[in-house]
This record gives sequence, structure tokens and C-alpha cells, in this order.
Amino acid sequence: MYIDRGDFITCQIGNKGEMMWVATYHPDAPPPASGDVEWIEVNTKRELQSQLKRFPKSHPVHECAAANNKKRLLHFGLYYRQHRRDGWHRGRICLLGDSCHATLPYVGQGANMAIEDAVSLATCLEKHHFFMEPAFQEYYKQRYDRTRRVVNSARYLGLLLHSQNPVISFIAKRLGPVMIQSNVLMTMTENEFYNKCPISMKPLKGE
Ligand SMILES: Cc1cc2nc3c(=O)[nH]c(=O)nc-3n(C[C@H](O)[C@H](O)[C@H](O)COP(=O)(O)OP(=O)(O)OC[C@H]3O[C@@H](n4cnc5c(N)ncnc54)[C@H](O)[C@@H]3O)c2cc1C
Repeated sequence: MYIDRGDFITCQIGNKGEMMWVATYHPDAPPPASGDVEWIEVNTKRELQSQLKRFPKSHPVHECAAANNKKRLLHFGLYYRQHRRDGWHRGRICLLGDSCHATLPYVGQGANMAIEDAVSLATCLEKHHFFMEPAFQEYYKQRYDRTRRVVNSARYLGLLLHSQNPVISFIAKRLGPVMIQSNVLMTMTENEFYNKCPISMKPLKGE
């Protein structure tokens, strides 16, 4: 992991030895919130070249970029969405997953929350004998606080990692590795993601 003023790089090695790496950075201008023009291949290459200039020649990111298959580059924007307070259903239509609580990726919980939603929604429908209105209301009540906490933790971690304030950036740079090496971060993460998980880990009836 590499953290410096506003830049953040992580990489993962797959079990066949392939490497995936991600560079997350502050753009010079806000990315467009709609339209595909920004995200075409030629812009992806241009963006990579301009980002590489931010790093000294000795930085390993240059080696990663040179080894990268250019056809497998992805370039996309990250947006924070405020949690909706006005329910997630209208009539017979009920939302779950990213459609009602899309999150920034910093805590890697988007898919997990969508799965929890699905279990919660199924359980509520069963409890209310498939009467949608009470089931949808209970589902929203069950899921709102948990998803808001997770979405906010991703937001605050993102703000910390990308802060261009030299003091905050210095703290993030020093604190990040210490928190990862010590058990503090793991314990906090386990508490939120496992102990506070509102979905029973026991198999559902009939399984
Ligand atoms: C690069 C990246 C890395 C991620 N890493 C992680 C991670 O490590 N851990 C984690 O938990 N989460 C991760 N996520 C988040 C996770 O992928 C999402 O939170 C999750 O996929 C949300 O599931 P969903 O079912 O709500 O939506 P989606 O997976 O987006 O499913 C929606 C589906 O609806 C389809 N669709 C859209 N419009 C229509 C239409 N009009 N008609 C028919 N079909 C339509 C789409 O094609 C899509 O298949 C990551 C996301 C990204 C982009």
C-alpha cells in the first residue's frame, strides 16, 4: 500500500500470480457524473500517462504500468452518494444493493451489503406472509442504520486516504501501516462487519 498527499495505491496478487493494482487519486477537475465520453479507452491511456507523472521515476508504479496489458486498463470515477431517508420502496417496487445505498469502495462492502439486503428482504417477506408494505417497511428499518454506517466508514476512510492537507496526510501515512499491522483495525472491522452483522449466519429454514 502506498499513501501520499491525495494519492493511494494498492495491489493484490491473485492465486495464479497475476497482479491487480489500483491507483486512486484526486482528479484535476471533477469527473462528469453522466455520459460515457470520459471513460473511453483513449482517455484511459491519457489519464494513466498523466497520473504516472505524479510519481518519481524510481517509484514501482512505473514498472506496474509498463508490465500492464493496456487492453485491461480500467478508468472510472468514484462518487459519494448520500443515504436516502425517504424509504427504498414505492408500491410493489423495492430497491436493494447499490440501487439504494451505492458506496465508495474503501471498505470493500458493497456486494456484502447487497447480499445482506437480499436475506433481510426475504426474511421480512416471509414474516409478513408476503404482504409487501409491512415487509418493505421492516426491511428498510432493519437495513438503514447498518448500511449508513458502512457507507460512511468508506467515505471517511476515503477522505483520510486522499486528504491533501499535509498534516492529515502525514497522519494517514504513518497511522495506516501501524493500524494494519496491529490488531486495532482488524478488531474494529470484525466488530462492524461480523458482530454487528444484522443477518443471522445460521442457515435459513429448510436448508
Ligand atoms: C471495481 C470494483 C470493485 C469492487 N470491490 C468490491 C469488494 O471487494 N467487495 C465488495 O463487497 N464489493 C465490491 N464492489 C461493489 C460491488 O460490486 C457492488 O456493491 C455490488 O455488485 C452491488 O450489487 P447489486 O446487485 O446491488 O448491483 P449490480 O451488481 O450492479 O447489479 C445490477 C445489475 O442490474 C443490471 N441492470 C442495470 N440496469 C438494468 C436494466 N434497465 N434492465 C435490466 N438489468 C439492468 C446490471 O447490468 C447489473 O447486472 C466493487 C465494485 C467495483 C466497481
